[in-house]
Amino acid sequence: MIGLFGGTFDPIHNGHLRTVLDVKEALDLDEVRLLPLREAVHRDQPATSPEIRLALVQAAVSGTPGLVADGRELSREGPSYTFDTLVSLRRQFGDDLPLVLILGADAFNGFLSWHRPHDILGLAHMAIMERAGHEVQATGAIADLLAPRAAPTPGALRESPAGRIFRVNVTALEISSTDIRARIAAGASVRFLVPDTVETLIRRLGLYGA
Ligand code: ATP
Repeated sequence: MIGLFGGTFDPIHNGHLRTVLDVKEALDLDEVRLLPLREAVHRDQPATSPEIRLALVQAAVSGTPGLVADGRELSREGPSYTFDTLVSLRRQFGDDLPLVLILGADAFNGFLSWHRPHDILGLAHMAIMERAGHEVQATGAIADLLAPRAAPTPGALRESPAGRIFRVNVTALEISSTDIRARIAAGASVRFLVPDTVETLIRRLGLYGA
């Protein structure tokens, strides 16, 4: 079973990395593929090029078995829709392997405004990361989407290739890329907020005003 974690990653930080490792361990995933998006759909475009954001992800996962940088969204023109990415992954891995799309609860709460959300659930399961202050909405359309699909155990995801939703508690780390960029621009340290390999690359390339 493979996990998929998409994001802007401008830059990737320990909040992304520790929580995704929590999910990998909780679900006993063989690997988690981290996919930087090329063109954002739901937010302002990142100032940093996709190639550099991918290089930061590669630097972040080097030395951690089971975390893989996946640059496939960089080769597609137009908005980086998760649906298209899953179609590409299905072409590579076939129809039978369970795929698990990993999302923060804040992202999941906006999931119904995504491009083809129900088709996404036809292609993958979802693991929703919850931490204090970042929980799934208890009522409304997103709760109605979750209720009939809720997986009681991680093992339930192995019984089919797609369509179930599992909620995972993850380590609460209040780190954001916005805060990392602001600290660097202000000349402050980001040590222990991003991997050393990522900080080294940021300084070498002079990113974010470093
Ligand atoms: P920005 O500050 O630029 O908005 P970000 O830190 O939120 O960026 P993204 O690349 O936009 O990072 O996030 C990708 C995914 O990571 C989303 O699903 C988001 O919910 C999740 N995420 C971001 N920060 C954390 C964190 N500290 N802990 C757990 N999940 C996180």
